[in-house]
Amino acid sequence: MNDASNVDWFERAARVIPGGVNSPVRAFGSVGGTPYFVASADGPYVTDVEGRRLVDLVQSYGAIIAGHAHPAIVDAVVEAAHGGTSYGAPTTREVRLAESIAAAMPGVDQVRLVSSGTEATMSAIRLARGYTGRDRLVKFAGNYHGHSDSLLAEAGSSVAQLAGGGGGVPGSAGVPMGAVEATTVLPYNCVPSLNDTVAAVIVEPVAANMGLVPPAEGFLEGLAVECARVGALLIFDEVITGFRAARGGAAALTGVTPDLVTLGKVIGGGLPVGAFGGRAEIMARLAPLGPVYQAGTLSGNPLATAAGLAALELLDEAAYAQLGRTARRLADGLSEVFDATGAPLVATTAGNLVGIFAGRRAPRDFTEAKTTDEALYARFFHAMLDGGVALAPGAYEVAFPGLAHTDAVIDEVVTVARSAAARAVEQRVVR
Ligand code: PLP
Repeated sequence: MNDASNVDWFERAARVIPGGVNSPVRAFGSVGGTPYFVASADGPYVTDVEGRRLVDLVQSYGAIIAGHAHPAIVDAVVEAAHGGTSYGAPTTREVRLAESIAAAMPGVDQVRLVSSGTEATMSAIRLARGYTGRDRLVKFAGNYHGHSDSLLAEAGSSVAQLAGGGGGVPGSAGVPMGAVEATTVLPYNCVPSLNDTVAAVIVEPVAANMGLVPPAEGFLEGLAVECARVGALLIFDEVITGFRAARGGAAALTGVTPDLVTLGKVIGGGLPVGAFGGRAEIMARLAPLGPVYQAGTLSGNPLATAAGLAALELLDEAAYAQLGRTARRLADGLSEVFDATGAPLVATTAGNLVGIFAGRRAPRDFTEAKTTDEALYARFFHAMLDGGVALAPGAYEVAFPGLAHTDAVIDEVVTVARSAAARAVEQRVVR
């Protein structure tokens, strides 16, 4: 099946993998059509099995920041692999990655490495509950923290496209009521009044799973004050923003220091990694020091830590300045195109991310985010794809411009967007 097309592969995949994919958004369910099957990737591009090269703004949903197949990361992984792929004993790379994270992230003395963002948030919550001796968890509507049971209530990302899932109600079949009974879901960008039953408040400090929604002025500061008042822990879920919004994540950017932080994506250089960290006094409650159990056969994996270390080494001050300029160039270019074509689309940037909202005004919370015109987004998405640009196949995702997206590549994206926006609007008129 060497010359097989995307359609052939999708059919073949659907026979052995539910929906043909290993993560729902990849199935193109909300935009329609057939996903492209990636054969290889290089810098800002992915090439599919039909030999079609696309400018990639998905970048593994943020796990890739320096571009695909960056030589420094590839070399680090190859070198590590020659020394063995997993041991079940500690390694020096784990220590160095933890040191790099602790040095960069405000309020982090100690770090525990895991293998995904989901594990990081799940473990941080268990730790917060163990530390405070309380059960209640507060999360915000439209924030996505991975797919562990207690966090699947009014979650963003592709969970937003499933029915149900209101406050304290499971957002997925298979999650028992009991698992979310102690989860309170509140509107983003509103500082709540807490009480002393709350173990933790978990928040995306720049929300990037209901489109892009930056924190309103005073929101994160207010959360920190309110958490301190009632003795709850504030958890910043920086799985997307960590080492992207700034080296020290959104915490460094906003000047608000959480009690615990969760990380993933960038710190693994594209290999499976997550982490959570915080003050030594809290982290000391984890096994083997304390009573909160948490473990992982592949945690601190040699290949993943090698890739992560290599990625973090590329991220100096100049890199962050470049990321900021690139995100701004993309958002400004798209905004200009949307204005010029009269397309009811809005492009925004925050935390070196770019949001594309199908509506007249960028959302400030999940209620506003859900007014997105998903059909318009789908038409724009396909028009972009036809023009050779891969956006995320879902209206609640964001774009991830990275270090490999040169000005010329961004300008090419904007040029494609000009006709794509016009086409997306025209198609609506025809209907
Ligand atoms: N937290 C946030 C903010 C995320 O965006 C994600 C995934 O996109 C997760 C947690 C879960 O990470 P993973 O998909 O690695 O389990």
